[in-house]
Amino acid sequence: MEKPLRVLLVEDSENDAKLLVRELQRGGYDVSHERVETAETMNTALDRQVWDIAFGDYSMPHFNGVAALKLLRGRGLDIPFIFVSGTIGEDTAVEAMKNGANDYIMKGNLKRLLPAVDRELKEAAGRREHRQAEETIRYLAYYDSLTGLPNRASLLDKLHQVISDSQRDGKSVAILLMDLDHFKEVNDTLGHHRGDRLLQQVGSRLQASLRPSDVVARLGGDEFVVMLPFSGSGDAVLVAQKVMTALEPPFIIEGLPVAVEASIGIAIYPDHGATPDDLMQRADVAMYAAKQSGSGVIIYNAEHDRHSPRRLALMGELRQAIEQNQLFLHYQPKIDLKTRRVIGVEALVRWKHPEHGFIPPDEFIPPAERTGLIKPLTLWIFNKAQRQCLACRREGIPLTMAVNLSARNLLDPHLPDQFVKLLRASSGASEGLELEITESAIMADPARALESITRLRALGIRFSIDDFGIGYSSLAYLKKLPVDSIKIDKSFVINMAKNQNDTVIVRSTIDLAHNLGLKVIAEGVENQDIWDRLSALGCDEAQGYYMGRPMPAEDLTRWLGESPWGLKSTNE
Ligand code: C2E
Ligand code: CA
Ligand code: CA
Repeated sequence: MEKPLRVLLVEDSENDAKLLVRELQRGGYDVSHERVETAETMNTALDRQVWDIAFGDYSMPHFNGVAALKLLRGRGLDIPFIFVSGTIGEDTAVEAMKNGANDYIMKGNLKRLLPAVDRELKEAAGRREHRQAEETIRYLAYYDSLTGLPNRASLLDKLHQVISDSQRDGKSVAILLMDLDHFKEVNDTLGHHRGDRLLQQVGSRLQASLRPSDVVARLGGDEFVVMLPFSGSGDAVLVAQKVMTALEPPFIIEGLPVAVEASIGIAIYPDHGATPDDLMQRADVAMYAAKQSGSGVIIYNAEHDRHSPRRLALMGELRQAIEQNQLFLHYQPKIDLKTRRVIGVEALVRWKHPEHGFIPPDEFIPPAERTGLIKPLTLWIFNKAQRQCLACRREGIPLTMAVNLSARNLLDPHLPDQFVKLLRASSGASEGLELEITESAIMADPARALESITRLRALGIRFSIDDFGIGYSSLAYLKKLPVDSIKIDKSFVINMAKNQNDTVIVRSTIDLAHNLGLKVIAEGVENQDIWDRLSALGCDEAQGYYMGRPMPAEDLTRWLGESPWGLKSTNE
């Protein structure tokens, strides 16, 4: 089969050109060619079409090969260029190669032509492929694959550029950080797949509601950023309102209407920060304030800093917090509903920040999950809890110890081995250890989750499904999961007395779980009424403020001795 070849000949002799073309055809190429002999005609030819290879006569009356080669490279074209000459001597050959020619051929000896052409075409194809691969990598590094929008890295690059332009011209830049409200619930209820569709549609609506010069990026999760070059707070608020309006009509996800609300925080260069990082942090603080107050859109104000947990800055400090003993664990008792005695505890992490004081886990666990810091954090928690569990057992207190795993932990293929290492280091057995995982963590990647669960169970660790009821609620799926118990989410338990619906959910969850041979624990038991109801429904265990709040290890020891639910129970 003939290979098509588009050949550009920089050659003053029609005859020499013909000889060359014939030789190429002899080698199996289907040649289409054009002969040029001036810079002008060469430019025209290059403008008109793509060429696979170029040949240049070394010396011509009006033009020469070296100039032709420079012209080609000057246009940034990576087309193989081969010198052909009748007069080329060794010196000129070397000179030609130095100028960037791919090869040189003597007119009187075309034997070398075909092998050279074959080789050069192959190498050019290799370079092309390499460039494409690099482009793909660059794309992946700078774009979010879900929405096709620029990602955080590319946003920060652009912001950097726009800031330095604005600095020169004395202009301002606005950034709008948008976070969807309750996206996690949407994701948990509809499933990740539909959550992804929703994010894609949000991305398109954002883009459609903005000018082409504005930049829309996705930071990850449900966070988007809009950057408005050369804009102040007035423009920013108008755009924020436009965005809010664009999000108003429900999204249709696989035929299902889904309503979405968002909170937007605005920060302006240079008023609120001089660097991309500062601006992003300030916008984050404003967004957080908007979320807290439910007001939709808020422009950054230094006041917010004092009230805001400054989540981005916190992440930088969380790493140190682990090392500097700012973290500790509280333990909350779990009580057997039949014997009314404590049977175990759940470890809940706490952070005492040197400046901001006590920071609740709901404020640092989600961002830690997003940044990956959850991995070292969970290892620290597991180690601490495991040693506490061991200490209790050595004192003859056989409590179970539950540790919470995030989705990121469950899908981390290294986690089981890291847990094994920690267990070995404390010469401790896994007895009494339990891990709480959520349905959404499993559904994020069921195959991988199952693999982790299986490996950890082989160590003797038990599993419990946390926050049951707010996720997929697929008890049928639960049947396939190697778990030991499920924990009914506190939102159902707390409302049992008031809401008939919640009672139905709790009752049917208990019945179905028992049919599957699973134990059921209810969290959020805040009073005796709820305790009695759960007891009547046959629930196995309860956890909640009514029996005991999360407490430090020292208080737990006292509680175990003194509480009616403690070890020396006096309720019988
Ligand atoms: P969770 O795993 O569902 O933990 C139970 C939460 O309910 C705890 O809040 C606990 O203090 C609270 N609670 C307990 N009893 C009652 C009650 O009777 N009424 C009410 N209203 N609440 C009750 P906390 O400690 O603030 O933790 C919040 C969430 O943060 C946890 O929810 C969990 O998702 C996460 N978390 C806490 N510690 C850790 C941890 O060590 N690792 C991971 N990955 N996540 C953690
Ligand atoms: Ca839990
Ligand atoms: Ca829970």
